[in-house]
Amino acid sequence: MAKINSNYKNLSQNYLFSEIRKRTAAFSEANPGVEILRLGIGNTTEPLVPTVLDGLKLGVKKLSKVETYTGYGDEQGDIRLRKALSDWYDKRGIKLSDDEIFISDGAKCDAANITSIFDTSSVVAISDPVYPVYLDTNIISNKKVIFLESTDKNDFIPDLPKEKTDIIFICSPNNPTGTVFTREKLKEFVNYALENKAIIIFDAAYSEYIQDKNLPRSIYGIEGAKNCSIEIQSFSKSAGFTGVRLGWTVVPKDLIIENSIPGEINKLWNRRQTTMFNGASNIAQEGGLAALSEDGQKQTREQVQYYMENAKIISEGLKSLGLKIFGGVNAPYLWIKCPKGLTSWEFFDKLLNETHVVGTPGSGFGKMGEGYFRLSAFGHRENVEKAVKNIKENLKL
Ligand code: PLP
Repeated sequence: MAKINSNYKNLSQNYLFSEIRKRTAAFSEANPGVEILRLGIGNTTEPLVPTVLDGLKLGVKKLSKVETYTGYGDEQGDIRLRKALSDWYDKRGIKLSDDEIFISDGAKCDAANITSIFDTSSVVAISDPVYPVYLDTNIISNKKVIFLESTDKNDFIPDLPKEKTDIIFICSPNNPTGTVFTREKLKEFVNYALENKAIIIFDAAYSEYIQDKNLPRSIYGIEGAKNCSIEIQSFSKSAGFTGVRLGWTVVPKDLIIENSIPGEINKLWNRRQTTMFNGASNIAQEGGLAALSEDGQKQTREQVQYYMENAKIISEGLKSLGLKIFGGVNAPYLWIKCPKGLTSWEFFDKLLNETHVVGTPGSGFGKMGEGYFRLSAFGHRENVEKAVKNIKENLKL
């Protein structure tokens, strides 16, 4: 008799985005013709840059000719892309060999799948609030989860776990708070991991939004990190690949945990990927190579700056009303303290009714997100400007 994996029953129902859709639809129905301004979703909005488009077109063209056609590629990814990424890290002073880099179809799958190579008895630490994927996948794989609280008392950067922890998920820059680990803080976590033979899963999907040169864009800039950290990365937010789908995960050969020898975790991830993944799209990988070229880097950096200018417009507008804002300086997310002690959903309704702006209630990202609200800098400039104008003119505080 087949039985379902009962761990799924332990997941809390996440109504966040369906509830946002429901409330927004109800508002539109009651107020026909009113323009809704969306500052809620972490999805990119601007077209791919020309060099990336050329790369993708090249990928398609290659498939049209018998001489250049390719079918399945290496599960680990196109060696040219792995080498290009190794060079990309090298320019940042980080040495990684191409067989430590595994190309994927995005950071979400890797962030979800990585837990499968660690023992079920592992205790996992996850910051709260955070990108919900880490929590749910560890619940599905029946691991004990502890929460590292991020509040205004610690500038939304959590403190070290108080109990012994085996796996620590760090998201920096953070979704949803937009805050970034400093070098010193990251070093504390790396030292903790080295001392406890724990492992850090470092999600750097928003690294390219970091403006402050002193903040770490990769965990491998921290001494000792190669012995205790896996880094997950993505082309989604840095190059607009949210729909194209391309990312990578670094599994250094120097990693050592309690019952492993150097190279073993790298081999394990290789085994996992070759068994359960058939490689990223060859077209997407050609696009990724183009994104890493000199022109690609220049153009995608400009696009990131476009979103960061949006962040500045939102931040300045809201601050002028006296609202308390975190993030938005080195990340495309702004984390707003709900005024007058409103809950996240009460503020959602107020913002929608008074200003027609849709954002994301912070409570959807964890218990500590209650009383906060996420706005996203992804959006067309004219919509962002309209939204900020509406908020400034109509939000009753
Ligand atoms: N990691 C974080 C922190 C995210 O916020 C997101 C998407 O919003 C992802 C990963 C997903 O990245 P990808 O599109 O590469 O799957």
